[in-house]
Amino acid sequence: MITAVLTIDDVPSCNTPDIVDYLNSKGITAVMFAVGKNIEKHYDNAIYALQHGMIIGNHTYSHPHMSALSFEEAIEQIEKNELILDKLYKDAGVTRKYRPFRFPYGDKGGENKKAFQRYFRENGFNKLVDTQIQFKWWREGELSTDIDTFWTFDVAEYNIRRGSGFTEEDVYKRIDEEDTQYRGALLGEGNSHIILLHAHDETEEMVPEYYKKFIGHMLDKGLVFTEPKFFGI
Ligand SMILES: [Zn+2]
Repeated sequence: MITAVLTIDDVPSCNTPDIVDYLNSKGITAVMFAVGKNIEKHYDNAIYALQHGMIIGNHTYSHPHMSALSFEEAIEQIEKNELILDKLYKDAGVTRKYRPFRFPYGDKGGENKKAFQRYFRENGFNKLVDTQIQFKWWREGELSTDIDTFWTFDVAEYNIRRGSGFTEEDVYKRIDEEDTQYRGALLGEGNSHIILLHAHDETEEMVPEYYKKFIGHMLDKGLVFTEPKFFGI
């Protein structure tokens, strides 16, 4: 069996409700990482995601490179978004059970890396259960002990932009790639993953309903999406 937890970054967007409807039609619960500024812009779409069963975590207020900020500025980015998320859950009438966090660009804070992990531990953030992930690099890179939510497979569909030359076909190639030397193929038998996809309206313009195409392709190949679980809950 090949299993994965689905995570979707940079929500909410214009296409978020359509993504949510598709996921519900397939029985998939995603952990969506929201940017505070995007919540302010598409508030109702974030409410829709919560009321239709998705989990929304923190992806900072304005999506900066966290290593480029002072520790204090970076914490402000997190806490400003925490307040927005608390209000969002309240307005949606949904109890906020989980507080996952994902760093923009996978930038784990540079020299402040340890301080961030301590902050997450001391401030009630939740680690996604990842004991099913067997890749050596996951343990060696301390991803198995870090509280923030990293990923094992980046769909990389955000590279499909006007003039980028990166196409829908390139995404299928990535999904089907069998080279397991380092990171581990998405579709390697017995593998478990945390998949990273994005909610981007620009991708939607280039490849309408891209999430259906790419997630559908994974489902066709036998990948099973599992319910996200968090340690201590
Ligand atoms: Zn992001």
